Amino acid sequence: MKSLNTLLSNTGTTIFTVMSALAVQHGSINLGQGFPDTDGPADVLQAAADALFDGRNQYPPMSGVPELRQAVAAANKRFYGLDIDPDSEVVVTSGATEAITACLMTLINPGDEVVLIEPLYDTYLPVVRLLGATPKLVRLTPPKWELPRAELAAAFGPKTKAILLNTPMNPTSKVFTPDELGFIAGLLQKHDAYAVCDEVYEHLTFDGTRHIPLMTLPGMRERCLRIGSAGKTFSATGWKVGYISAPKALASVAIKAHQNLTFTTPPNLQRAAAVGLMKDDSYFASLSGDLQAKRDLLADGLARIGFGVLPAQGTYFVTTDFRPLGFNGDDAAFCRYITEEAKVTAIPVTAFYDGAAPSHYARFAFCKRDEVLIEALARLARLFNK
Ligand code: PMP
Ligand code: GLN
Repeated sequence: MKSLNTLLSNTGTTIFTVMSALAVQHGSINLGQGFPDTDGPADVLQAAADALFDGRNQYPPMSGVPELRQAVAAANKRFYGLDIDPDSEVVVTSGATEAITACLMTLINPGDEVVLIEPLYDTYLPVVRLLGATPKLVRLTPPKWELPRAELAAAFGPKTKAILLNTPMNPTSKVFTPDELGFIAGLLQKHDAYAVCDEVYEHLTFDGTRHIPLMTLPGMRERCLRIGSAGKTFSATGWKVGYISAPKALASVAIKAHQNLTFTTPPNLQRAAAVGLMKDDSYFASLSGDLQAKRDLLADGLARIGFGVLPAQGTYFVTTDFRPLGFNGDDAAFCRYITEEAKVTAIPVTAFYDGAAPSHYARFAFCKRDEVLIEALARLARLFNK
């Protein structure tokens, strides 16, 4: 029979699914795939349940239910001072995952170049390549993950259509600084390029670090498609409700991508996400505050065991260097070893690179109940501090 799509045939199963399956197989504590182990706010869950019973279960409007589009616009204003028109500048999608693909579809023609920053989230590269674009990869280097400005500038050229920027960034937990964002903005203007801004962790930043959307910088309002995720913001990663905020000219094409990908997104979950986005500031403060305490619990514990722990300014994750523990093997072997021997699972960071990469880092998720983190630390201590 004729061969199938080469790119997809050659794409492996995502590392998150692989490691979660391994965790189940070994009955281990899963600090791999990033998902909280407690539910999000009760009023948001209740709103989703109630919304199933009031007769709005058929196809909602393609761009999203009005309540959610208005809530997304209001959140843009409240948190970032951005004026977004809920009727023409918001597109609701089935998760940020769909939004990323839809935004890339909006911008890319075959032959275009897209600048990507490694280590990167695993859906970016396959989609860029499926669309016929050429990825131009620029690498951040641990432990500081600073933006290599000369290399970034060199990655831009006449064929550059866009950059895909993830801040706060998975898996580095880096939050791009105003200065770095300004540099990127300068390159976008110089090369007349766009930005797809994956900001799913926008509300998960620590130690007073502020997330700044690239879209808020001078000249960037017209060039950015900004992506958020209800899954992350309301601790319900299974919900898959994402939202794109973009200027009308871009949103009007993004909605065509959405039309062809999923067309609409479950209406009750959209309406619950709207309730969530309208919650008062104290909700957002405690979301990041609680997570910061969990970061400290896990990061301090891992450091005590002997891991080299990299700083985490945001997201669900802390990256660790396991060489100080004396483990002689790569990150895949390490993550398998601790799953089997300590019954704690992490993610090998090489999964976030295309090709050769530093192979002595493991990523741990701290979005878990304190007792789970404490037990995971006790197990790792038993294995490494014998
Ligand atoms: N982007 C990044 C960087 C992520 O870590 C995730 C995690 N799921 C997503 C996008 C996808 O978000 P969603 O679950 O809303 O599709
Ligand atoms: N974003 C999550 C992580 O990085 C996983 C999402 C997924 O499993 N696709 O762990």
